Amino acid sequence: MLDEFSLIRRYFHHAQSDSVVLGPGDDAALLTPPAGQQLVMTQDTSLAGRHFPEDMPAADIGYRCLAVNLSDLAAMGAEPLWFLLSLTLPDVDEPWLEAFSAGLFALADASGISLVGGDVTRGPLSVSIQATGAVPPGQALRRDGARAGDRILVGGVPGEAGEGLNQWQAGRRDGPAVARLCRPAPQLVLGRALRGQAHAAIDISDGLLADLVHVLKASGDLGACLHEPALMTLLAKSPALSALAPAMRLSRALQAGDDYLLLFTQAARAPVPAGSHVIGEIQSHPGLRMRGDDGTEHPLTASGWQHF
Ligand code: ADP
Ligand code: MG
Repeated sequence: MLDEFSLIRRYFHHAQSDSVVLGPGDDAALLTPPAGQQLVMTQDTSLAGRHFPEDMPAADIGYRCLAVNLSDLAAMGAEPLWFLLSLTLPDVDEPWLEAFSAGLFALADASGISLVGGDVTRGPLSVSIQATGAVPPGQALRRDGARAGDRILVGGVPGEAGEGLNQWQAGRRDGPAVARLCRPAPQLVLGRALRGQAHAAIDISDGLLADLVHVLKASGDLGACLHEPALMTLLAKSPALSALAPAMRLSRALQAGDDYLLLFTQAARAPVPAGSHVIGEIQSHPGLRMRGDDGTEHPLTASGWQHF
């Protein structure tokens, strides 16, 4: 049986950027921050059976647990730098560790983030990652900058990961929806492009409406009106949602979490970034509304969404 130190050396020592003076192996990591930048820090813990299915492949678990942290950095407009990995394992299962670290480092290398340390303990499977990024002073994207009259945009098709979870629970293990659940793509490039462009930004982890409400509240109790025809047109193009009836697609898109897409607001005249879609507008009076084909507005609630 591998001891803790051999396990760390075998599976978690990996190439690092020049900013890492000392990575895993000493009492703590030693890092050189980029000159003149602000640091952006986030942490997310994922529990088996709660945040990901118990039987998700280990490579996907590794990928996904880092992705949710990178998505927070993306939503701040930050450049990823370093992360710490706190891993709780029920036992030392080498094929599992091999696959987990392959999935983890596939995304780490693609995103330019270095693993600089962590912790390994024994217990029910849980993965906690703390990630640090950097942003030029004053340029971070925040939740509190939305203004009445802004457009609301989303960086992809919402609802696909939620549909993936639904399909997973029904026994399906492949297809575009399941892929979105297992390998969410943190929108780091979009986040950086939105510096100086977006008034407010958040990543969708809890669901589009729930996360939109966070922006509205942080920005001073504003309201929002979503455009049903724009949403329906967007959702109709998604292969991951094609099996669903239109009303069900809309419900997934508004309520399901796990998409890790950026949701942001910008001035009405600002250009729409490639791959992003306008789905509504910020209004001065509080609350959520949906404007239908005929131009009438219906009230929406973040929690009690019902199809109409
Ligand atoms: P200490 O007893 O000083 O807290 P640990 O035994 O927890 O040290 O860890 C020893 C070294 O291995 C530390 O540098 C730590 O950051 C690193 N480390 C522990 N777990 C991991 C991991 N999962 N991934 C990367 N590095 C790790
Ligand atoms: Mg320690």
